[in-house]
Amino acid sequence: EDEKNKYIKGKKLGEGTYANVYLGHSRLDSSIKVAIKKIKVQKEYQDGIAPDAIREMKYLQKLRGHANIIILHSVFSSKDQNLNLVLEYLPLGDLEMLIRDVDHVRYGAADIKAWMGMLTRAVWWCHDNYVLHRDIKPNNLLIAADGEVKLADFGLARSFADPGVRMTANVITRWYRPPELLFGARHYSGAVDVWSVGLVFAELIIRAPYLPGNSEVEQIALICREIGTPTEENWPGVTQLKEYTVPSDVVPVAGKEKYMGRFGAVGSDGVDLLAKTLILDPRRRITAREMLEHRWWKADPKPTPKHDLPKKT
Ligand code: ADP
Repeated sequence: EDEKNKYIKGKKLGEGTYANVYLGHSRLDSSIKVAIKKIKVQKEYQDGIAPDAIREMKYLQKLRGHANIIILHSVFSSKDQNLNLVLEYLPLGDLEMLIRDVDHVRYGAADIKAWMGMLTRAVWWCHDNYVLHRDIKPNNLLIAADGEVKLADFGLARSFADPGVRMTANVITRWYRPPELLFGARHYSGAVDVWSVGLVFAELIIRAPYLPGNSEVEQIALICREIGTPTEENWPGVTQLKEYTVPSDVVPVAGKEKYMGRFGAVGSDGVDLLAKTLILDPRRRITAREMLEHRWWKADPKPTPKHDLPKKT
């Protein structure tokens, strides 16, 4: 139809697990740039479209209109039957690039507060619309020309409108995966994304992944060592989860003092918020909505205006 003729495909921008991404521009106005995400044909889905692509399209449509969610302009299929998602072009890379570029990119507490505000509002919007993102990590937080951070990559998202439905526990990149998923929980909530948000927060502060486990077993060990061992006392019911196993030397849950040592750069209010995103029991973990009401946002320093945020060099 018409949609595919609206855009001209240019150079390849990058390659993801299930798609190639190209730069594109409007046929009518070449200054209007877009990113065209062309879904790879996967052998297992010969006669249908890959489920990740369907998810990404469905949830981006549903979540349309929020400043911190990547815009889906249109969708078309190319002659080779491939599905193409026309996305907002985000030229300034992602949060992971900024975090890692320690030699060139300097940032402080006010910048972290601005980025965390944008991330938290994006996640609140997803949850308010009954969508779980299920893959929040710095690499999926893309940066717009005006400094706005946009949550992208909805290929693992799903709806959680029905609490009775069992969901797969095999989601979220390991370092950002919450303990309930590591223990094989099949009923879970927005709390899974909040845990990931907490780990992005920690990573922004220390400029390194906070819990970089090399395997699921090691991931659980790191959580126990750094945050505390999940037990019936701090998380009623946890021992009933199918894959519950923890190292035998039980570590008590970290107090604020422990976090202050490593994350004190965001002040005691910031550390308080961080600690609440990393509560082991998902029912007691802070929600995205409650995060937005936290006193840290109002405390000094104020979040940096988006146009003044550090950019990649
Ligand atoms: P992954 O998350 O596995 O990197 P994606 O398919 O989302 O996979 O993206 C692949 C690459 O394409 C990204 O790393 C990035 O360099 C680029 N890219 C993706 N989306 C955009 C966009 N909207 N604007 C600019 N570049 C993009």
